[in-house]
Parts: sequence; C-alpha cells; structure tokens
Amino acid sequence: MHDLTKCVHHPRVSHDGFSSLAVPTYRASTIVYYDAETFFNRHQRGFDGYTYGLHGTPTTRTLEAQITELHGGVRTILVPSGQAAVTAIMLSVLLPGDKVLIPDHVYGPVRYFCRDYLKPRGIEYAVYDPLIGAGIAELIDDQTKLIWVESPGSGTMEVQDVPAIIKAAKGKGVLVGCDNTWATPLLFKPLSHGADFAVEALTKYVGGHSDLLLGSITVTDMALRQKIKLVLRDLGIGVSPDEVAMALRGLETMGVRVAHIGRISEEFAQCLLLSPVVERVLHPALPSCPGHEFWRRDFKGSTGVFSIVLKPGVEHLLGDALNGLQVFAIGASWGGTRSLIAPMAVKADRTVNAWNPEGIVLRISIGLEDSEELWSDLDGLLQKLEVIDQPLAVGVR
Ligand SMILES: *Cc1c(COP(=O)(O)O)cnc(C)c1O
Repeated sequence: MHDLTKCVHHPRVSHDGFSSLAVPTYRASTIVYYDAETFFNRHQRGFDGYTYGLHGTPTTRTLEAQITELHGGVRTILVPSGQAAVTAIMLSVLLPGDKVLIPDHVYGPVRYFCRDYLKPRGIEYAVYDPLIGAGIAELIDDQTKLIWVESPGSGTMEVQDVPAIIKAAKGKGVLVGCDNTWATPLLFKPLSHGADFAVEALTKYVGGHSDLLLGSITVTDMALRQKIKLVLRDLGIGVSPDEVAMALRGLETMGVRVAHIGRISEEFAQCLLLSPVVERVLHPALPSCPGHEFWRRDFKGSTGVFSIVLKPGVEHLLGDALNGLQVFAIGASWGGTRSLIAPMAVKADRTVNAWNPEGIVLRISIGLEDSEELWSDLDGLLQKLEVIDQPLAVGVR
C-alpha cells in the first residue's frame, strides 16, 4: 500500500476486551457494503437497517431504543428539534382538505406553522380551549385527522384531560399527538393512555445542559412510523450523532435532575403565593391551576417549569429588577442546569380563551443551583417590584 492510500485506509484494530459503559459516537454519511449484491439490495434493509448516515447510525438507534422503552412504544424517530417533531407528524398525516385541532395554549411556533405553512397549502386548523376535555368531540368533523395536545401548556400551564380527549378522538377515528416535553416520559406516558404520537423536545430535560437541539416522536404503530420516516427521507432531515451522544449522556442523569427540580419548583410555587406582587402562580401542583385535578390523576409529579402572573402596575420596574438577578439567567428554552426567567407575551397568542390577567407573565425554569441562593434571588426580584404600593398599582395599567 502506498502512503497516500495508507492515509485514507484506517487499520483494523482489536476491540477484544474493550467493553465501555459509554455509547460510542458513530458518524457516517456513506455506509459501505460487503459486496455488490448487498449494495443493489440495500433498500430491502428498511428503516431499521443501515443504508445511509441520514437515516441513522448505531448511536442514534441507541437513543431511539431508549426513548421507545421509556415511553412503552414500538419505535422512536429522532429529528433535529422539538418543533421539527411536531411538524414532521403534521406533514406525515395531513393532506390538503384535512384539519388539525390545536389547543389555545400550544407552544407558539406550532400555531405559526399551522397558520403560515399548513393553511396556505390547503390544510385547515382550528384552535380549541385546552380545558375542553370530552367536549372536543363536538369539534371533530369529517375533515379532522389529528388532534394535538400539550399538557401542561407552554407558559400558562393549564393541564389537559388528555385521556378524555383521546377517548373522544378514538371514537371518531382521529389520531392524537401529545407534546410531553414538560412531563418527560418519567412523569407522564401519553402512549399508555392511547395517544398515537408522544413528542419530546429532547432539547429540554433529556439534553439537560442547554447545549443541544433534538426532538423525538414515539409511536406504537409501525405504519405511522413508516409515514414519518418517508417524509423525513424526502425532506432530507436527519440528526447528528454528536448531538445524540450528548443527549444519551444527559438522559443518564435526567431522573435525579427532574426529581430535584420538581421538588424545588413546587416549594417555590407555594412560597410565591405569599408575595404581594404576584397575582397568580401557575403551577400544575397547585389546586388553583386550571386542570390541577388531571395533573393529580395522571402525572407522577412535577418538573421545574412554571409561571407567575405579576400584579398590574409593576411593568416599569421589571426591567431593572430582572437586570439585578444574580443567579437566574434571562432566557427562553429551559431544562438545563441553569435557572431561567423569561417574560412571556401570552395575550397576542390567544384566539379562543381570552387571556384576562393584565399583569406580565414570567416563566420560571428551576435549575440545579443552590436552592436557597435561588430563592433569595427571586425574592430580591419581587421586592424590587414591591416598591410601588397597591393604590398606585390600580391606577397604572
Ligand atoms: C421547547 C419546546 C418545544 C420545541 O423544542 P425545540 O427543540 O426548541 O424546537 C416544543 N414544545 C414545547 C412544550 C417546548 O417547551
């Protein structure tokens, strides 16, 4: 072999005795074949075999299998983001003339996808009250092919009666997809209630360190899996094994992270009820949270994301108060080790249930910092808002 060839051909080395706890990162575009015939027949390998890096490597298969087991599904499909998981499902089951129902509290970009992408292409959508429960049956018409649920909802945290919605949908042969990002498969398993698709933004609690973007779709029906894989193949969408390797690492610690931040978030939610500048605390574990009874019935616990509604009249103080935070960072997304706060614009995104509170909504994501330090940071922020007294607050708006 000439030197130039030696540069290109990696020597085979022994793997004997090498048994590691880490999942190797297998990268590939090309997959090579033992012989010409295998190459000619490669398409017979299907989506469980290896044909091209875009469709998976042993690293991506490992994460897929692990999420499948956690959800009690049959197959999992990985996509580049949580949003891509939602859109891949909609693109695979909806055709022009069909309709999808989405809840009014849905993760914002899902609504925009329906409005700006699906609708101009002849796919209808209708927005429903997240607390509609079995009443969803009345919204299902002949066009309706998919019902989307997200429980609790992004930002405003209403917990949906997912089992009742699924029951109504099944009665009419309609598919149900569930965005389960808040709960993770540790606290709620949509497929066990009969959902057709369980979606996770792995970006959040599975990744766990604010440094990757990935989404997953888990199904119990191989035909649905085939439909989604074909759409992804045609669109040329796959995931990076490097991101997947990081998600595999994050997943190992998810259980202890979620247990810890769930406990802290419930504690903080209770304490925040006492603040004079907090109008409402939106946390599924509080009896005042819309749908709390469904959380108690269906969920195993809490994770670390919840919201508060501030009393009106503190808006002009909020910027300085946020800028004064020492431990919390200001930012969207969540699920990492760092605690975050993000003011949310809720009103503009509501079309069915008007969002009545006048005050600003702050979304809080608890991370892994010292909890007393976190609380004093949050308390400091609220005290800066208390500078105004209540009579003034009524006048401003
Ligand atoms: C973040 C999030 C998504 C989108 O996930 P990305 O990976 O950021 O695209 C979808 N649904 C919910 C509930 C989310 O919080």
